[in-house]
Amino acid sequence: MNRGSRRGVLAQGLGAGLALAAAPPAQGQPQAPPQAQAQPRPLVVAAFSILGDFVAQVAGPAVTLRVLLGPEADPHEVSPRPSDAVALRQAALVVRNGLGLEPWLDRLLRAAPPRGRVLTASDGWPALIANGVADPHAWLDPAAARHYVRGIGAALAAALPAQAAPLQAATAAYLTRLEALEAWVLAQVAGVAPERRVFVTGHPGFAYFAARFGLRALATPPQAWGGQGAGQLAALVNQVRGGQVRALFSTGPEDATLMGRVAAEAGVPLRGRLYAETLSAPDGPAATYEALVRHNTGLLVAAMAG
Ligand SMILES: [Zn+2]
Repeated sequence: MNRGSRRGVLAQGLGAGLALAAAPPAQGQPQAPPQAQAQPRPLVVAAFSILGDFVAQVAGPAVTLRVLLGPEADPHEVSPRPSDAVALRQAALVVRNGLGLEPWLDRLLRAAPPRGRVLTASDGWPALIANGVADPHAWLDPAAARHYVRGIGAALAAALPAQAAPLQAATAAYLTRLEALEAWVLAQVAGVAPERRVFVTGHPGFAYFAARFGLRALATPPQAWGGQGAGQLAALVNQVRGGQVRALFSTGPEDATLMGRVAAEAGVPLRGRLYAETLSAPDGPAATYEALVRHNTGLLVAAMAG
């Protein structure tokens, strides 16, 4: 899962995260409702943009949301900034993925223990193991996403007891939408012949998604990120050629070059970009988790069937 040295995500993380957050009432602003000043909204910190969306869908403006790694930032590797520690200390709730995805956040939490609860959203969900290591990308399975959201909804209701009822109602409504989302993906995949249900990505993030929907997910070997693994890469190219795999995708600018090589050597065009672990910018195709799953599914189904 280690993608090696990556572009600087820090420059984007906080600013983009704040775009998701409802702005807190300005200090001393005369038109601010008195209640808003008397009861500041509790701070909820989410490790990355997809978890932030889960919080936002349930809590809306009831909380001030800070997303440490905003859209287009990679949750695998990051060097947190000092202001992240300040936010964590003040947080009424911190939501992280777990399954080894955020060692940077584990270090930060040890240095800056929050006054509120730390929710590890994947806790209790059965992990898939790859090469002896837990695969962290459970959220791409909508059933796992519902597990995350149930935990987030319960933690929010516990952190904001005065608003427990509306938070529970919002959680239930969002869970219903995620059930519909899963049914929609299943219906889309059903239109693809079983022997064609295979795809390749530049990042091994799709095992949970593939398992849920009866797909085979292949990925470039992790060594290829560091320019190694030529043998495994050649094996992947042969697999694509021999299996007549048509659905090849990058998962972002980081692996577009590598996947471009695989595609060129296999003689198959790249079919676009899937979103695995970050939302797109708000005006992009994956601005929410639901949009992300629909975007990925639309591209996948068209490429596998075509
Ligand atoms: Zn990943």
